[in-house]
Amino acid sequence: MNFEELSVRPEIVRSLKEMGIEEPTQIQRTAIPIIKTGKDVIGMSNTGSGKTVAFGVPLIESIIPGNGPQALIMAPTRELAAQISQELEKFAKYLRFSVATVFGGVALGPQVEQMGRSDIIVSTPGRMLDHLQRRNVDLSHMKCVVLDEADKMVEMGFIEDVDKILQATPRKKQVLLFGATISDDIEKIKRKHMNSPSVAKAETYVKEEYLEQYYYNVEAYDKFSLLVHLLRNEKTDQSLVFCAKRSTVELVTKNLRMQGVKAEMIHGKLSQNKRLSIMEDFKKGKFPILVASAVAARGLDIRDVSHVFNYDLSQDPQEYIHRIGRTARAGDKGKAITLLSPNDHDAFSNVLRYFDVKVDLLPNMNFQRLKFDAGSRRRGSFFNRRFGQGDRWQGMEARGEQRGPRPGRFRRSSRSHQSNGIQRQAVHVHA
Ligand code: ADP
Ligand code: MG
Repeated sequence: MNFEELSVRPEIVRSLKEMGIEEPTQIQRTAIPIIKTGKDVIGMSNTGSGKTVAFGVPLIESIIPGNGPQALIMAPTRELAAQISQELEKFAKYLRFSVATVFGGVALGPQVEQMGRSDIIVSTPGRMLDHLQRRNVDLSHMKCVVLDEADKMVEMGFIEDVDKILQATPRKKQVLLFGATISDDIEKIKRKHMNSPSVAKAETYVKEEYLEQYYYNVEAYDKFSLLVHLLRNEKTDQSLVFCAKRSTVELVTKNLRMQGVKAEMIHGKLSQNKRLSIMEDFKKGKFPILVASAVAARGLDIRDVSHVFNYDLSQDPQEYIHRIGRTARAGDKGKAITLLSPNDHDAFSNVLRYFDVKVDLLPNMNFQRLKFDAGSRRRGSFFNRRFGQGDRWQGMEARGEQRGPRPGRFRRSSRSHQSNGIQRQAVHVHA
């Protein structure tokens, strides 16, 4: 099956081809024909399975350029909004389209102008509501509204904003709701703003042969040394290192640099411009390692990420799925490696309880113990006293194993249960 057979316009088929997109993924095969009929659609598939094409291509086809903004796409983060715009512009390379990208942290004025000239607006909910309340934009001619990463918008507390924005659009319009996981909290939006939606679902795209998931049992104080060891010894192309907290992102980056490892960081407290330029540089391959907090985990498509390292785990089990979705994109191989210390056990158990993933324990290995500067707060503390001795620790074996959980505990999996308000869902990462 190819895109011609999905009746996609030749101009778009051509630009997709130039992007290396020739054979539609499952979500694209399922969703594109339904969206073309004008029906409301809920699209669910793993990260990396090509949802942007799935909603973006039929959206572009339904629009008449030069007639004012006719479609609104909402996404939870600035980076994601910027990325969707870039993709749409690539899809529409041989068509005349104007896309406005609208998010917070930058001046309002130019955005108003941009929106006025645009055919499609891509926006974060907060900034769109801001513009609406200032009467900077008129959404009453919208033909289609897309909510991308809808579950994340709920999670980040944007759902009221999304609701208000949808109220400013005409009753008769198409609503497309996409995400890797669609939680029950989205019900309200579904009931209020969608008209008997069709569900387009795709099973696995990230397959076991593409994405390998592993964990090491390691004591918290050995994590950094193990990370450096892996970065140096694994055959990595570009790597993402995820940390749950911003302070950890900063510390890990600083210490990597002290070891002579070229690393940059991205987290929510960096300025908008800084975040975008770091993402750009990383995509261009200007540096090999990006240390990131959750902000970068969502929706971002970074090509050539061969490895995702979880330096620690987030309390939110879905975050794990989104993190590992940054590698093995669209059929490339990838590895996700979690450095599991006792602090992470609860979070990890939850991941395995809610999602159908297979994560294998790797045996402990020898690695060089490195200094880890934990910042001024801890100067002279346990860390420095213990690890201020450099090479003396070289060659010692990691001793996490006996204290760590037995592997069996982490092989559990279950599907489609409901508990604690979190939707349990089978994510067929290895199916
Ligand atoms: P999702 O939104 O589902 O996480 P994206 O839309 O970000 O996934 O797509 C992930 C990557 O896969 C992008 O680099 C995209 O260009 C690529 N891609 C999308 N569809 C295809 C396809 N049919 N064949 C090959 N690559 C694809
Ligand atoms: Mg996406």
